[in-house]
Amino acid sequence: MKFIFSDSLDMVDPGFDFIEDRNAPNRRPYWDDAYPHELFENPPYDGMLVSKATVGDQHIKGKFTESQAMRFHRVGAREFLRLDQQKYTSMPIFGDCGAFSYAEEPTPPYTPEEMVEFYDDCSFTHGCSVDHIIFDFDENLSGIEGGSEDARMRFALTLDNASRFLKEHQAHGSSFVPLGAVQGWSPTSIAEAARQLCAMGYDYLAVGGLVPLKAPQIHLVVQAIRNAVPASTRLHLLGFAKADVIEQFVRYDITSFDTTSPLIRAFKDDKKNYYVLSDSGELTYFTALRVPQATENTRLKKAAKEGKINQEELQRLEKKSLKTLRAFDRNEASIDETLEAIISYNVFLESSLHDNVAIRDKLSAKLNPLYRETLQARPWKSCVCPICKTAGIEVIIFRGSNRNRRRGMHNLFVYHNRVKQLR
Ligand SMILES: [Zn+2]
Repeated sequence: MKFIFSDSLDMVDPGFDFIEDRNAPNRRPYWDDAYPHELFENPPYDGMLVSKATVGDQHIKGKFTESQAMRFHRVGAREFLRLDQQKYTSMPIFGDCGAFSYAEEPTPPYTPEEMVEFYDDCSFTHGCSVDHIIFDFDENLSGIEGGSEDARMRFALTLDNASRFLKEHQAHGSSFVPLGAVQGWSPTSIAEAARQLCAMGYDYLAVGGLVPLKAPQIHLVVQAIRNAVPASTRLHLLGFAKADVIEQFVRYDITSFDTTSPLIRAFKDDKKNYYVLSDSGELTYFTALRVPQATENTRLKKAAKEGKINQEELQRLEKKSLKTLRAFDRNEASIDETLEAIISYNVFLESSLHDNVAIRDKLSAKLNPLYRETLQARPWKSCVCPICKTAGIEVIIFRGSNRNRRRGMHNLFVYHNRVKQLR
């Protein structure tokens, strides 16, 4: 089971100065920045995935700049992602369309022929056919009953695209491995799509549309697919947001899945944002300590302009929080002192922003046990990853992309270890 990291230029500045809170002098974005695999001895994933919609083009504004997108096409995915060194040659690079970005459109902006060309030109090792997301889902339907008119249109379109995609792949003599994308509105309609894709000649299927589904529904879907296709058919789970419970899915013989959730968790989740493996090998979590940037935050800037916030006091509390945290890391400050500093800052900030004193006690009561647990355990001290080794306590401070993404990269490393255990 391969863990494929779905990338959208998630890089950090290796020369970032935590004390001064600034990038290395003369740092050039992308060129001087590092991908997760460049910071670890062994990559914290088994491969990478790039969506066409992330690269961007005339149809969809991606996350790449125009010159980055041009370079991606010119040098190909492997060189662009800096996976062109000898030690990375066995790492697969998956491509897909990024169907979520055009889910609202009546039809996908890409043709199967264009996508085959894109995968070939950019030297992907694996490429998914052009799917169109179906949002309806009803696990109680059987066979191919039900489904709105729109769902049925998308179902037929996705299958037709897959058929054209495979023909183009053969006609082109393409060397990448083609994956047939599966969409449907119920476990059994999804299984029917999978069956038809196998009949076309696919032996590797990419199961899409899983993002809005809950884990029990995903079980029904994958089980239904497994019942409908030959045992030798390989399965890939596209955009697998339930990555934290991957162990539940091992039994379906999943060949690969892509996700970005361990990285995203680091800054999108309020509480569970720093991963550790427990003694029994399960994923557990700590809460990162929030010290927002008093002068950089747009919400704070606005509040300061409106006179809602005492900026001098804010900056004083911010500095004190950082100083105390670093002292704590050197065993020069107690847990209580450290908690007091960070929580006062957070409470001052929120209560001034919301003009609400009542929030004070509530927030303090919420943060206190979570932050205490983190400080007591000092998980960054025992982590063997190079991020924690070099950034120290900064990795668990929730503040700015250089700290938050580093924590995300630490999470990738822990998560990858979890997946390796399950193999
Ligand atoms: Zn670490």
